[in-house]
Amino acid sequence: MKKLVSNLVRLQELDTRLNQLELQRGDLPTLIEHLTTDLEEKRSIASELKEKMSKLQSDRKMFEKEVEASKELLKKYEDQLYRVKNNKEYDAISLEIDTKKVEIENLESKIIQTLEDEDELKKEATELSGEIKKLEEQLKENRIELEEINQHTKTEEAKLIGQRNEILKELDDRYARQYERIRRANGGRAVAAISRGSCGNCYSVLPPQRIVEIRRTDRLNFCEHCGVILVWTEG
Ligand SMILES: [Zn+2]
Repeated sequence: MKKLVSNLVRLQELDTRLNQLELQRGDLPTLIEHLTTDLEEKRSIASELKEKMSKLQSDRKMFEKEVEASKELLKKYEDQLYRVKNNKEYDAISLEIDTKKVEIENLESKIIQTLEDEDELKKEATELSGEIKKLEEQLKENRIELEEINQHTKTEEAKLIGQRNEILKELDDRYARQYERIRRANGGRAVAAISRGSCGNCYSVLPPQRIVEIRRTDRLNFCEHCGVILVWTEG
């Protein structure tokens, strides 16, 4: 029994220290995860913008070519207008000219619209690339910080985990499971020493008779209030 108690006490010491090391990392791992997701989203939006931009540019080039072609035709019609032989021909060519002019006007307003859209996209892209850069820097800083903490704690952590596994090998599965269950339910504490007649976890006072029992007994004792395994470590 003494061995069981001392193993549980030691296990708790190791887990408490492991918890402290975990706390040193704080919310850095979660923060890094969030930043990474955020960055991926922004990068994918940036590449969508790039695609939209190249579509706009190729549209504009197409409109520009069409304008050029229409203007050439217009010029041809205008030349023909000087050489018409009758009114009917004059009317027909005039109509062609008017149609071409409207066509050119439409194309030119499309070009202007495209240029405006390109400007808008460019602004969005610039803003986005600024945000991406900021995120990348923040992520880099956080990764370096976490890496530094990890370098300090990794060796100790590995040692603690090694010692923990040694104890678990000696410990009956039944007790190990019980220990884990209580630890999870109590925010990391499964074993508490009796201190000044009280539970070392919740500080509820224990009747003296109960303390005598706990000191003598050869089975595990639990605090009636918080459920931790109570052990006697003094003397
Ligand atoms: Zn308690």
